[in-house]
Amino acid sequence: MTLRCPVCRADNAAPATCRRCRADLSLLWSLEGRRHQLLAGCRAAVGAGRADEILRHAQEAHALRHDEDSRMYLTLGHLLERNFLDALRTLCTASNSQAPQAAPRVPRTEGPHDLSSPPAREW
Ligand SMILES: [Zn+2]
Repeated sequence: MTLRCPVCRADNAAPATCRRCRADLSLLWSLEGRRHQLLAGCRAAVGAGRADEILRHAQEAHALRHDEDSRMYLTLGHLLERNFLDALRTLCTASNSQAPQAAPRVPRTEGPHDLSSPPAREW
C-alpha cells in the first residue's frame, strides 16, 4: 500500500511521515488502513454471499476514498440485492457522471405484437 503526500505529491510506502517533505501523514495512514480493512470485509462478505454486509463495508470505504475497488463492491452489493438502478448509477458515476435519474425510456413499438425488431433503447 502506498500513500500520496497531499503536500508534495510524493508516493510513500511506509508510515508515518512523508519521505520527501516530512509532513505528518499518520492520520491519512490511519484512514487508509481502515479503508483497507473495509475492503477486506467486502471480500469476505462476497465469499459468504452477504449483500448487506458488502454494501455496508463498501459504502464506508467509498466515503473515505473513491476508487475502482469500492465502486466495484458497491455495484456488486446492489446487484446481489437486485437493485439494478443503483448498480447502474454506481457504474455510470464511474465512467462519466451521467447517472440516470429515472428508469430508462423505451420507445413504443407499433403494436403489442410487433416483434419484428427489438425496441431501441435510449440511455
Ligand atoms: Zn510530502
